[in-house]
Amino acid sequence: MNDSMRRAAAILLVILGGTALWWAGSGAASSASANYAMVATIAAARERAAANDPRLKGASRFEEGGWIYVHLEGDPGAMGYQHGYLLAPEIEDAFGAVSAGMMHSTERDWEFFRKAAHEMLWPKIDAEYQHELQGIVDGLRARMGSKLDVDDIVAFNAFEELPDYYVPWLNKQQKTAKAPGLKSPGNCSAFVAAGSWTKDGQIVMAHNNWTSYRNGERWRIVFDIAPKNGYRILMDGFPGVIASDDDFGINSDGLMVTETTITQFEGWDPNGKAEFVRARKALQYAGSIDEYTKIMLEGNNGGYANDWLFGDRKTGEIAQLELGLKEYKLWRTKDGVLSGSNWARDPKVLKEDAPQFDPDNKESSPNARRGRWDELLKENKGKIDVALAEKMLGDHADTAQHKEEANERTLCGHVDVSPRGVKEWDWQPYYPGGAVQAKATDATMAKEMRIMARMGHPCGGDFLAKPFLAAHPEYAWQEPYLRDMKAGPWTEFRSGQARRE
Ligand SMILES: [Zn+2]
Repeated sequence: MNDSMRRAAAILLVILGGTALWWAGSGAASSASANYAMVATIAAARERAAANDPRLKGASRFEEGGWIYVHLEGDPGAMGYQHGYLLAPEIEDAFGAVSAGMMHSTERDWEFFRKAAHEMLWPKIDAEYQHELQGIVDGLRARMGSKLDVDDIVAFNAFEELPDYYVPWLNKQQKTAKAPGLKSPGNCSAFVAAGSWTKDGQIVMAHNNWTSYRNGERWRIVFDIAPKNGYRILMDGFPGVIASDDDFGINSDGLMVTETTITQFEGWDPNGKAEFVRARKALQYAGSIDEYTKIMLEGNNGGYANDWLFGDRKTGEIAQLELGLKEYKLWRTKDGVLSGSNWARDPKVLKEDAPQFDPDNKESSPNARRGRWDELLKENKGKIDVALAEKMLGDHADTAQHKEEANERTLCGHVDVSPRGVKEWDWQPYYPGGAVQAKATDATMAKEMRIMARMGHPCGGDFLAKPFLAAHPEYAWQEPYLRDMKAGPWTEFRSGQARRE
């Protein structure tokens, strides 16, 4: 069936269903229930028509350990359709939470973000990803009759870069009066190790994602992507977003990739290419550290500026790309460990791209965690493997206070219990955010396209929304979106996986 025939068949089903209901409704049934039934029938007809769409061939979804695993394959339009269709309820839900956060922090309406997506971002997105993003809209509409359009989806994909990079830059350009104090985010604790540092001498890579619990509790997708062009990808991700976005992924050519965000980064290039597009493209097409770096530099817009950590299992080399807008630096080694906790270290990057950041304040979250990574990794030199990495991601040692206490300074972050918050990110006291999930892998696993993942705090602790909101009414605006974040077990996922029996 071609597209127009499929559409005609769907419309016919809707008309037939509607007519039958009108017939039934004209009898004894109340008009309200008939109306309700008619809506349900139309929705069911739409779902039936959408489920038979040939673009869904080969795609699948299952849930395990608190994660939702989706397999997408084929050309960009088909993969987008599969993504939109299989994750439609989660995308609608996440869009509500994310867009509310973007509008709240920036004091801008949604139309502002749609316009930025349409005029600034869209024209520079590669045709391949334009098709995939349009496909997500088509899948969403087919499954749920969604009202979201491609401008909504593009703005939503840019949720890590428009509010905290573009808007502060724009406010400065326009000298906006009473502009909100927006700060670039500080997401994640991570490391990559190789050579004499690891148990088997090969690469080990681990990462936990720091974000608001509101968004983080929704960051529960494992994407297994088999694109028509480029390498096979296994990555964690967010519903409706084409890049991993907290960035933990491996590809079939041997590249292992993660990152932590650069705290107090400033800068934006409106003529650049969206970060979410470059990051996805790099994971799909880069077979080496140099290729990944090249793709990230092409059209660098400064958005979501990160310290990227890489492993290349083909060569045993690890690397760190500190990607500023004005400056960047690449370090690489086959025998060492590179850690990240949201601090830049290259003097030029610090000076030009993160001038407000104080690398000497040992009490700040990025620096306290930097100190803890140094201790913990040194103590375990030669013993590091995935099992140990999992433990490290749940670590609660606060180097500023020299004691065990889960808070904003520990590798497993719990800012909701901290009276200090994290002022560098404009996270107020008791901000409901911190480490929201974690992943780890090594070279052997990456060769077999396998990762370990744990949903929720990597230490296994639960966050409960109701008592938190009762204790902290200042976060009441989040109530419609803030949910419990309960930790799941460490769970293994692999490419091409079917539901475990
Ligand atoms: Zn914890």
